[in-house]
Amino acid sequence: MLEEIREISNPLYRAITSGLFLSTLVTIPVTASLYLFNPKNEATHKLIVYASLASAAIGAIGGIANGKSRSIASKSATFQVEDIESSAEWKDWRKFVIDRKVKESESITSFYLKPVDGGSIPNHIPGQFLTIQLDIPEQLKPIIRTYSLSDYLGSPDYYRLSIKREPAPPDTIAPAGIASNFMHDSIHEGSIIAAKPPAGKFVLDLDSTQPAVLISNGVGITPMISMAKAATLLNPQRHIWFLHGARDGSLHAFRDEVNAIATRNPNLHIAYSYSRPTPADEGQYQHKGYVDANLIKNVVAPEMEKLCGSSVADYFLCGSPSFMDSLRDGLREWGVSDKNVLFESFAKAKPKKSEQPQEIISKNKNPDAIEVVFSRSGKTIHWNPDQGSILEFAEANDVYPDHSCRVGVCGTCACKISEGEVEYEERPTASVESNSVLICISKPKTTKIVLDI
Ligand SMILES: Cc1cc2nc3c(=O)[nH]c(=O)nc-3n(C[C@H](O)[C@H](O)[C@H](O)COP(=O)(O)OP(=O)(O)OC[C@H]3O[C@@H](n4cnc5c(N)ncnc54)[C@H](O)[C@@H]3O)c2cc1C
Repeated sequence: MLEEIREISNPLYRAITSGLFLSTLVTIPVTASLYLFNPKNEATHKLIVYASLASAAIGAIGGIANGKSRSIASKSATFQVEDIESSAEWKDWRKFVIDRKVKESESITSFYLKPVDGGSIPNHIPGQFLTIQLDIPEQLKPIIRTYSLSDYLGSPDYYRLSIKREPAPPDTIAPAGIASNFMHDSIHEGSIIAAKPPAGKFVLDLDSTQPAVLISNGVGITPMISMAKAATLLNPQRHIWFLHGARDGSLHAFRDEVNAIATRNPNLHIAYSYSRPTPADEGQYQHKGYVDANLIKNVVAPEMEKLCGSSVADYFLCGSPSFMDSLRDGLREWGVSDKNVLFESFAKAKPKKSEQPQEIISKNKNPDAIEVVFSRSGKTIHWNPDQGSILEFAEANDVYPDHSCRVGVCGTCACKISEGEVEYEERPTASVESNSVLICISKPKTTKIVLDI
């Protein structure tokens, strides 16, 4: 019975149950023994009432304390990160308890995180992400991943992450996504995970008055919700277009939430595009097909001209790699300057034909002549351009550096370079110190590189 009471997550309910339990436990034997020895005495009756009240109160207090300490202690027992920070000077890993877990769509679930230490948490800039660390059984080392903050409160007492379950790719023996499936299946209310402070440069300038177009598909909607909420709260004069693409309504997370923001903010203009809508979606979407540059050119731009007197805008893109590629190309063709287009990749795009390894072989005439030294692991290996980035090359050779995004955004893979130089396949978004490099998007540039891995 005590075990069951401890499992109750609502503290009020746990206090009442625990109080009643202890009160019953004390009152029955006290009543029985006092009536047996002194049945007619008025003091006996009073003693029974006091005993039952006192035991109920002790039970309730015990219920609250016992439940709280247990929920944190039991879940953190599997968590082995040392070096957790809990002060206001939060720079590295800090423990968070999952306060709420909410299913948003067939594939996306939200997790509300509150700091275990009870301290305050800084507000994020809309569009930023949290880097989290998970101790997953059977994984050799903690798994680090990056998730956009999908809410915006002004003065937050929680952070919300909304995570899509990544299934195994079809027709392969490749495993399903490690972190997303673990979050969906094994992280519940009361579980504890570690997180680093909000970071990232894919952010909405809250002082700008230039119209903004937030364009997403799938789970790429997460940073856009934060941006739309922040603009509504702090910059409601700014015209924002919120364009989102989904296959159908069952995969469209946060529709009601975004619609609710738009009812509060007349300058938030919504356009949902469903590629394969079902009859149940009737009236819930504005366009059939994909979100593409034509939709922006033919629908958004005329509206913007009318409302703002110009169609010059800031574009924010987040979604699948192919979706973003096609939008970036389409916007460029239409004449939108690259400096007005900000994008965030959640996953590494498959290399285009022109970026295949052969290209790199011809650049570095003799890749065999390139030496990569992983100094901490004590390994010196000849570079193999077929294995991708330095991170992928390291993994292929049984060296497993910390990493998360694999697209140069989160900075988790930054490591010191003490000799040689690397070249980047794309411009890193994360800040990197001058003597460090991001190995997830780089390759050796010189014939020898020495990395502190
Ligand atoms: C800045 C940023 C913000 C992000 N925000 C969000 C967000 O808000 N919500 C969200 O859901 N995600 C977000 N992501 C993505 C997230 O960080 C993870 O990449 C995602 O959850 C997948 O992680 P995973 O561990 O589940 O999958 P992983 O284990 O990393 O696998 C990724 C994919 O590769 C497949 N795979 C695994 N092994 C192989 C193999 N050998 N061959 C072929 N395929 C394989 C898996 O099945 C899976 O589909 C964000 C990423 C970045 C960089």
